[in-house]
Amino acid sequence: MKFVLASSNSGKLKEFGALLADSGFEVVTQASLGVDDAEETGLTFVENALIKARHAARATGLPALADDSGLCVDHLGGAPGLYSARYSGGHGDAVANNAKLLHALEGVPDQRRGAFFIGVLVLLRHAEDPAPLIAEGRWYGRILTEGRGSGGFGYNPVFLPDGYTQSVAEMDDALKNRLSHRGQALALLRERLREQHWP
Ligand code: IMP
Repeated sequence: MKFVLASSNSGKLKEFGALLADSGFEVVTQASLGVDDAEETGLTFVENALIKARHAARATGLPALADDSGLCVDHLGGAPGLYSARYSGGHGDAVANNAKLLHALEGVPDQRRGAFFIGVLVLLRHAEDPAPLIAEGRWYGRILTEGRGSGGFGYNPVFLPDGYTQSVAEMDDALKNRLSHRGQALALLRERLREQHWP
């Protein structure tokens, strides 16, 4: 089964590749089919994932998988949230984003540095599909006072998952994929696909 992946973030593509490697699904990226990114005008992760999947399905005629994800920090009322990728201004500038986050939490004690990554996956059979498959994962932890490690992307160096002593950037890929918001959401999606007659 072939579907189009509505994402152009190379860190995420790598994770999806690993997570779907043995699934029997063939994933092609929208970029490889010449499809531009959709405008993310939603107010929630699930709305944005739907917008992205519908855009990719409409442009390609293929079933489409989209994800929307981000980091929500309790002390900041859920920020950076939808704006995680461009928190500091420029899109995907992880060094600047992490610096801004650490600055925003300066002096905040450990017990008030709670946060979670959220990942929402949406699979549409076609652009007008009224019943998308939706799967969500959340990964809880807290924000460190300084970055540690260099693996992966985004906020990995500053996020300490509950129950672990390593930051996400210090974890190997296999462990991260097992625990992460995206890993959880994808496991759920695969379970749903098995239960249902898809497409
Ligand atoms: P999206 O591409 O709109 O889903 O933006 C998600 C943004 O959230 C990314 O650019 C990262 O800044 C952050 N993010 C999401 N998932 C992760 C992760 O697993 N590790 C680190 N940062 C993440």
